[in-house]
Amino acid sequence: KDLPTLLRNAELAMSRAKAGGGNRCTFFNLGMAEAAEQRRALEMDMHQALRRNEFQLFYQPIVDIIDHRMVGAEALIRWRHPVNGLVPPDTFIPLAEETGFITDIGFWVLDAACKQLAEWQAEGKDYYLSINISGRQIPDGVSPARLMEAVQRYGIISSRLVLEITEGVLLTDVSSALHWLNAVRELGFRIYLDDFGTGYSSLSYLKRFPVNTVKVDKSFVRDMGSNSSDLALVGAIVAMARSLSLEVVAEGVENLAQIKLLHQMGCRSIQGYYFSRPVAP
Ligand code: C2E
Ligand code: MG
Ligand code: MG
Repeated sequence: KDLPTLLRNAELAMSRAKAGGGNRCTFFNLGMAEAAEQRRALEMDMHQALRRNEFQLFYQPIVDIIDHRMVGAEALIRWRHPVNGLVPPDTFIPLAEETGFITDIGFWVLDAACKQLAEWQAEGKDYYLSINISGRQIPDGVSPARLMEAVQRYGIISSRLVLEITEGVLLTDVSSALHWLNAVRELGFRIYLDDFGTGYSSLSYLKRFPVNTVKVDKSFVRDMGSNSSDLALVGAIVAMARSLSLEVVAEGVENLAQIKLLHQMGCRSIQGYYFSRPVAP
């Protein structure tokens, strides 16, 4: 009915066509306008959430099954939304990564994690804590200087803070990723390769990039008991990591049968609902 709306809708259809690979025709439909509106609303809501301190870290224990004790935890962000309740990360982290707002969220996560580590340290607990780092945060959002500043502010040892990255991070810009990794390793921070096996990297990446630990993705662990190729895959990942002197953490462990299999393979660090869901500190 009016020119501005017509142009805006045409633009939405065009961006959808581009996102689909370009060189194609896409017709506008109302769903596109609604989706765009929802994204805009979510984006504004996220900015407000940070200002209003609505984000919160939950912690999921990582257990050593040989020593029978909790050795550390993974920090997982939650959003205590005043209307929608407890919002899981999958609903807002992808958009935050797209828009770059993940950098600001990441600053908050880093600070909150260090604060928690300091509290545990004061209570005499020697847990380590891992935080998730998106590709967009590297290198500037988690520069060596910023990481150092954070641990020094709270008086914690850098080796207590673990940075979880995914294979994708190593793929985009190899030389800058390598540079960043070496710099943070030099300072004593540890690196876990998260969701291992789901990305596109080759096994040689494990040799090339200085990571400490491989986290076997929960999708393989889930079906280990029933699917022989998943079982073989987990066995191979654990064996390979061990032969490269890397530690292995299995995530998504939900039952004792999985623990027994992992134990036989030589994997001693376990994370999953079997021991605990992510919980408040
Ligand atoms: P992730 O880093 O791979 O975290 C593990 C996810 O698996 C968590 O989901 C956790 O709750 C879930 N999980 C743990 N044990 C089990 C289990 O036994 N069974 C099943 N089915 N699931 C299990 P969550 O908390 O929803 O987080 C999802 C993803 O969001 C994380 O995957 C991570 O990629 C991202 N994320 C979370 N917090 C942050 C953050 O602070 N920064 C960034 N950049 N990403 C984050
Ligand atoms: Mg993780
Ligand atoms: Mg994972």
